[in-house]
Amino acid sequence: MSQIKAVRGTRDLLPPETELWNHIEATARRVFARYAFGEIRTPIFEDTQLFARGVGEETDIVSKEMYTWEDRARAQSEKAQMLTLRPENTAGVVRAYIEYKLGDAGLLQKLYYIGPQFRRERPQKGRYRQFFQIGAEVIGPPSAGSESPLRDAEVLEMLATLLEELGITGWTLEMNSVGSAMDRPRYVQALREALVDVAPTLCIDCQRRAVTNPLRVLDCKVREDQEKIDALPKIADFLDEGSRAHFAQVCAALDACGVLYTINPRLVRGLDYYTRTTFEFTHSGLGAQNALLGGGRYDGLSEAIGGPKAPGIGFAMGADRLVLTLQALPSQAANDPGLADAYIAPLGEAQQAESLVLARELRRAGLRVELGDGSFRLKKSFEMGNKLARAIVLFGEDEARSGIVTVKNFQTGEQTKVPRNELSSVLRRD
Ligand code: AMP
Repeated sequence: MSQIKAVRGTRDLLPPETELWNHIEATARRVFARYAFGEIRTPIFEDTQLFARGVGEETDIVSKEMYTWEDRARAQSEKAQMLTLRPENTAGVVRAYIEYKLGDAGLLQKLYYIGPQFRRERPQKGRYRQFFQIGAEVIGPPSAGSESPLRDAEVLEMLATLLEELGITGWTLEMNSVGSAMDRPRYVQALREALVDVAPTLCIDCQRRAVTNPLRVLDCKVREDQEKIDALPKIADFLDEGSRAHFAQVCAALDACGVLYTINPRLVRGLDYYTRTTFEFTHSGLGAQNALLGGGRYDGLSEAIGGPKAPGIGFAMGADRLVLTLQALPSQAANDPGLADAYIAPLGEAQQAESLVLARELRRAGLRVELGDGSFRLKKSFEMGNKLARAIVLFGEDEARSGIVTVKNFQTGEQTKVPRNELSSVLRRD
């Protein structure tokens, strides 16, 4: 029979790599808690309209990357609902914010999420069809200060701290302002006009983007196009006074706490909902897919999906890419739990039940314990124990009767007799 494999672009995460995932997630939770964020868990699938209206029909994500299907209609007269596996989580968080009227208390909502997202992209290193994001959003009514540049700076400072606590150095923070909902159409218009002459000389993708979504031309990576794209109008020249002042204040607050950044006038990002500040943290160790995380402000998103005015700012980190970055560091061996503290070898089937009791005692004392099997010969128990643990505990009839067990430490070669009630302290790692 033909073998069934994980679907293209998806993968299984196995130990010990999952230890690293848990470490990353635990570090993120710890840092988010210090900044007074709470966790939100939204459904994995949503009404397709949420993404069409929230992320934008013209974006790559919505126009070609979503996993969408028609649900079964509840009644014959009813139209079936279109559903989509979430390609990102911000739209879901904002939907929940609106649905549960989270803004009514007049406070900022500071929410983080950790979970899988789905996009039908061309799989490659660091790019998968099911991938994992760790993200956070700060959203609320303007009266709660949700429009303040201090919120942007606080989120960026938190990210610099989180990367530092994860032990990731060598990143670059690129920032830009894409202006307000009013600035952007003027800029897009200027870009369209400039592209009339330039686009026919650019790559085939840019020729298409120039018509469908001119901002995306700025993302082009084709080497021959770069000089011409750099010469196109810059969004900075189209910002109104408010957007200009906002960006200057974000930069000033980052300067004050020593978070380094560079301004990239071409950073417009792939989602339509962004306004004002956009940012990306990149890492050179990642290769072609070098973005560790991205985010920005989305002052109009809530209204675009039928909610009240609720400006916000957020980001999403690619957990898969954090793992790749950390795996490249030599210090990561420390996250592999490695060998168990003990391998218990029941010496005969009569010792099976009592050996489980012994394992239970040691595990309750906090040790990592492997339990062998009474059907194994002594030689096999030693071979197995040597592969799995730092020490083997022999547990036969005599040991069960006397309460004194034999312990062999594989690392020192030393063999000792240990009273059962002292076993956990003898086996504990220093
Ligand atoms: P975005 O939601 O497109 O702003 O992406 C935010 C971050 O999620 C990126 O910077 C990546 O780190 C990560 N990411 C996005 N798409 C993928 C993917 N297909 N596979 C792995 N990580 C991804």
